[in-house]
Amino acid sequence: MPEGPEVRRYAGQLHAGLAGQRIFALTARTRAARAWLAEHDGAFDGRRVERVCSRGKNLIGYVEGGYYFYSHLMMWGRWQVVTDPEPVPVDRRERARITVPEAQAILLSAPVFEVGQGDPFERVEYLASLGPDVLPYPGDTFDGAEFLKRLLAPEQRERAIGAVLLDQRVAAGIGNYLRAEMLFACRLDPFRRVADLNEDDLQCLLRTIPEIAARAYATGGVTVPDDQRERMRGDARLVYRPESEWGNRHFVFRRTNLPCLVCGDTIRQLRQVTYQDDEGERERIIYFCPTCQGTSVPLKPIRVRRTPASMTAAESVAA
Ligand SMILES: [Zn+2]
Repeated sequence: MPEGPEVRRYAGQLHAGLAGQRIFALTARTRAARAWLAEHDGAFDGRRVERVCSRGKNLIGYVEGGYYFYSHLMMWGRWQVVTDPEPVPVDRRERARITVPEAQAILLSAPVFEVGQGDPFERVEYLASLGPDVLPYPGDTFDGAEFLKRLLAPEQRERAIGAVLLDQRVAAGIGNYLRAEMLFACRLDPFRRVADLNEDDLQCLLRTIPEIAARAYATGGVTVPDDQRERMRGDARLVYRPESEWGNRHFVFRRTNLPCLVCGDTIRQLRQVTYQDDEGERERIIYFCPTCQGTSVPLKPIRVRRTPASMTAAESVAA
């Protein structure tokens, strides 16, 4: 699932492919965009794309004349920018397409695509409520004061920090891998109530959130430093599949039952209730090290993996 750093990369690709060029055609298959386009026939035709940027997990394109397009990729969406002049056949997953003379930007599988005129941060309800972006653009900084204000608001105090970090109204751009890695970096129990965080915890979050987001953006989603990645490449006991480059990208995310890179204890996973709405409780899997993060919830005994790569915690530390 694309999180802030991944959406920022898509925004960069769209900006590189579309900015400065005039829109030859804009088509959409989402209900909201189709309805708007039906009422404003040809509104985008011939207009120059000014810039494409992201805010959290949202992508926004500004088009001359005060027009905009907006997408949210949710779980499966992705943008594809094609510079090949050959027309690209329409795939059944296609949700929108923006064609300029030198490129086509195609949105696949995303449920949310809107177009309109005016300030998208006022027109699109979801954008108006977003917290500070964890991945500020160059020249900008992460708005830590605003983040703390939103984190410590009365409605968040009884919630678990692991759940609140996914709340885009508190900080925009954090998804499941970033929250697990940020909490691990601060040695924070994902199940701890916000009200129980101390000053050191808060300072660590302020420092770590933009740091890890920036690293993930720069590296294409890797959150461990290079030396830890090398260590996992060279030690089969630390990964599920030594030949895979996907298993050595994180400290805890999707490393269930493998040794912690810091203390050697076994990384665990649990379902965590992230929010409640009219449809009931929503859950996401949280990954953590019980020792490093001092988890407060009961854990079941570990199922031992019967593989040649099995190792004890002590061996892991020695490694
Ligand atoms: Zn640990």
